Amino acid sequence: LARHAMYVDMEQQQQNSHVVLLPLPSQGHFTPMLSLAQLLCHAGIHVTFLITKHSHSLFTQRDALSARFPTLHFESIPDGLPPDHGRKFSALHEVGASLRSTIKPFLRELLISLTKKDDETSNDGSTRRRLPPLRCMVIDGIFMCFAIDVAEEVGIPIFALRTTSACSFWCYTCIPDLIQQGQLPFQDEDMDQPIRDIPGMESLLRRRDLPSFCKMPIDHPTFKFFVEEFEAITRVSALILNTFDDLESPILSHIATRFPKIYTLGPFHALLKSRIGNDLSSSASSLRHQDRRCMTWLDSQQLRSVIFVSFGSLVKLTRVQLLEFWHGLIDSGKPFLWVIRSDMLWNEQEAHATSVKLEVGTKEKGFIAEWVPQEEVLAHKAIGGFLTHSGWNSTIEGIWAGVPMLCWPQIADQPVNSRWVGEGWKIGLDMKDTCDRSTVEKMVRALMEEGDRSAQIFKSVDTFAKLARHAFTMEGLSLY
Ligand code: UDP
Ligand code: UDP
Repeated sequence: LARHAMYVDMEQQQQNSHVVLLPLPSQGHFTPMLSLAQLLCHAGIHVTFLITKHSHSLFTQRDALSARFPTLHFESIPDGLPPDHGRKFSALHEVGASLRSTIKPFLRELLISLTKKDDETSNDGSTRRRLPPLRCMVIDGIFMCFAIDVAEEVGIPIFALRTTSACSFWCYTCIPDLIQQGQLPFQDEDMDQPIRDIPGMESLLRRRDLPSFCKMPIDHPTFKFFVEEFEAITRVSALILNTFDDLESPILSHIATRFPKIYTLGPFHALLKSRIGNDLSSSASSLRHQDRRCMTWLDSQQLRSVIFVSFGSLVKLTRVQLLEFWHGLIDSGKPFLWVIRSDMLWNEQEAHATSVKLEVGTKEKGFIAEWVPQEEVLAHKAIGGFLTHSGWNSTIEGIWAGVPMLCWPQIADQPVNSRWVGEGWKIGLDMKDTCDRSTVEKMVRALMEEGDRSAQIFKSVDTFAKLARHAFTMEGLSLY
């Protein structure tokens, strides 16, 4: 279905198709799933998009999207958390666990009702045409694997959209193997030791690059939960990834040995723009208000002179780390555009006052914003570098824009992505978890100033940006 959405004109068969999408309610997961929804609707497919009431309330573009795509229907679902729960995006594990235990019965009922083919007769005797019968469900491939049981029970094919890179996904897929080989959990504290048993990444990974649950005892509930997710996902009929073949081909071949079908549709944001145009695509999925004033500020800056700093929607910093970054950026002498979310500091009380203080101190040297239109920022000609937490959406957006990256990975899949950026694809530098001011200054200069290394990096990222465009042509398409 996903591939049809890309390459086939609207046909009767698609107009009679219906898909349910179940995203994880977090910006980095919500955005790619909503892109998929729009692509499917663009091809005439009916989509029921399940969205928690909380995300629904933040998602201001839903009416515009519904007007643009008549076959897109948002279905609001409970997340099971008490009304006074803050539902911070950083509490993703909590939200995921609550959703799992809350919506299974709801989902079963929904799927059963959507698979019925007959028209519905109301009490007044009139008949209401049902939506076309359900063909399949697409779930987020992490935290949502409970839905595989439900789909199997109801007899609906199920696809998983995994919002990480193929590289990170492959690492997780191999974790059950590492346990069987007795390599996990790690027996000692030496996190710099290489991991040589993940095919395709023999010389790239260190223990520290795997998620932190790998340090836990094997019977720890968190460890068990993730391993169960990584095993469950292998039962899906197809896997959809936000990547392109020329970027991750060897790893995709490994993944293909474990899944019946893989669709590589990335970079999603660019595919979406190429199919539906510019009007809605870049801002449609934002769960926060975008400060567009930064675009005017960027217009006043010189070609490729600005370093864009953004750590995504979840990463948190201490006040000390924030200040070290600020000093490092100022000392580098490069103008910077920096996203500082109001919930970015561990101590949220400190966040507002600190960011105001930094804004005052920054003056004309930079621009600090709470949230920006990131895809547009990365595409701006004034941007010359991207200091990023290496979330996958940010990474692939950076690759599409051809912007060299400086990586400061923190959690989840970020360390593996940053290894590939720095050591695999050689399109950036890995700052690892160091952020003292002199390191920040040195690394920003190394990335942005003319020299052999920065020239090499720029050449590589430019090549991948071109390959990403090639992926959207018929000949760039391969099947796994
Ligand atoms: N983003 C944005 N504006 C910002 C910062 C981030 O629109 O000011 C978007 C960014 O373009 C990306 C997403 O938020 O699509 C973050 O996803 P990613 O996977 O990079 O990181 P996560 O938030 O999941 O850690
Ligand atoms: N994960 C993900 N997206 C997220 C958060 C987590 O895909 O936004 C997945 C990913 O596979 C990761 C695992 O969940 O490896 C564990 O995530 P966690 O946040 O616990 O990472 P850690 O802090 O352990 O590195």
